[in-house]
Amino acid sequence: MTAPIPFDNSYARLPDSFYARVLPTPVAAPGLVKLNSALALQLGIDPSLFATPEGVEILVGKRIPEGAEPIATAYAGHQFGQFVPQLGDGRAILLGEVIDCSGTRRDIQLKGSGPTPFSRRGDGRAALGPVLREYIVSEAMAALGIPTTRALAAAMTGETIMRDTILPGAVLTRVASSHIRVGTFQFFAARRDVEALRHLADYAIARHYPDAAGAAQPYRAFLDQVIARQAELVARWLLVGFIHGVMNTDNMSIAGETIDYGPCAFMDTYGPATVFSSIDYYGRYAYAKQPAMAHWNLARLADCLIPLLSENQDEAIAQANDSLAGFAARFNAAYFGGLRRKLALSTELEGDSDLMQTLLDRMAVNKADFTLTFRRLCDAAASPEADDMVRSLFENPAAFDEWAIGWRQRLEHEPQDRNARRDAMRRVNPAFIPRNHRVEAVIEAAVARRDFAPFEALLSVLSAPYDDQPGFAHYSDPPPPSQASYQTFCGT
Ligand code: AMP
Ligand code: MG
Repeated sequence: MTAPIPFDNSYARLPDSFYARVLPTPVAAPGLVKLNSALALQLGIDPSLFATPEGVEILVGKRIPEGAEPIATAYAGHQFGQFVPQLGDGRAILLGEVIDCSGTRRDIQLKGSGPTPFSRRGDGRAALGPVLREYIVSEAMAALGIPTTRALAAAMTGETIMRDTILPGAVLTRVASSHIRVGTFQFFAARRDVEALRHLADYAIARHYPDAAGAAQPYRAFLDQVIARQAELVARWLLVGFIHGVMNTDNMSIAGETIDYGPCAFMDTYGPATVFSSIDYYGRYAYAKQPAMAHWNLARLADCLIPLLSENQDEAIAQANDSLAGFAARFNAAYFGGLRRKLALSTELEGDSDLMQTLLDRMAVNKADFTLTFRRLCDAAASPEADDMVRSLFENPAAFDEWAIGWRQRLEHEPQDRNARRDAMRRVNPAFIPRNHRVEAVIEAAVARRDFAPFEALLSVLSAPYDDQPGFAHYSDPPPPSQASYQTFCGT
């Protein structure tokens, strides 16, 4: 007999207007694909709980574990700029919360476990492919050290679902610091329910920004801190070439985690305008537009908080604008600080910005692979003998050679010795990202043949992205030219 899951469900104790109580829909033939045992342990859950048929039933929503209080949370959101006053969890059900080993409250949510009162025309289901995709990419982000929701498990439902074709159904068990979104605030703001807004803000402060509670102006401090975390998060995305793809306000976590891995993708060749999502027709969420879009979303959060910031509306608006003006400095510090570390510039000298921008410009013009360029620069930082490996990534290798002259001169002003420099660079320039063609191959094997060996292999490589993994070097290769153009779909 294994210990039950130690639930403590604070969100379900909030007022009724915050959620709908709803049970997952039982499914035919549950089958476990993957359990993240290390994460289970962190959550204080005995992983062997999920080794039994009853445990797997929990992971597809067929059995409600003791202490769970399943709810679908209410939220609104701007989708590609259009406000939708009611979205909500249409295919996700929060089972409850646990306090993890470090004392942090974490949500355990089933994604794809059947319709809810917020499903609108959707079936509340998820297909195996997108579930594996979210598992891989969210776990890769965690291993890269980037704040993110996590994947506790992937399980098949034993049922098929209808999309463009018939597909195997699956459920992802997602773990998050919370599922409070910018859109959760918008839900109550749109209803002019200031009391609920205040309740939500107080809850979010207590859960995610407890020191804001003691500030002279707690709601202002809260806004500032959400802005700071988002600015840092988006900077981290840019530094690894991640494109979220659907940065709608309902997909932006108040806790500052990457959430909702639908059409996201990592870019191979560097291009600021890169877009992968099939529905992002105008490039709203292109790689280099992500900071501006985060800022736009945060302005929507600030709009919601106006009634809480001051009784005097002009004063409240002035405060909100002040807070939003802080985004750029936060983002720039995180982004340029990160870029410096990627290039081993530990000191700040005049001309550094130009040096960094010139490299990026040349990478773009020469279609250089983003991840490999920076990874191979680590060796080049130790010895020019490694330059060949970098220059060959550029369509015109001379474009790199010219830049490298300036970089080497600049490195002479760095205090570290060449090996320390290389080692420091290797800790911030990953060798392995979830390459799109690899993710697709994993999904193809799983969906067409129920072969999960490629999934396991990819997960394993991505769990140590900063290590060279001899024998797995090919996982760092860019796609073959035939697979270089890539599109993602929302996975609904
Ligand atoms: P997303 O673009 O995945 O963030 O989803 C936007 C909204 O659509 C959210 O309210 C989702 O819960 C809802 N949704 C997405 N897919 C489905 C589905 N298959 N069934 C019901 N609701 C869905
Ligand atoms: Mg979403």
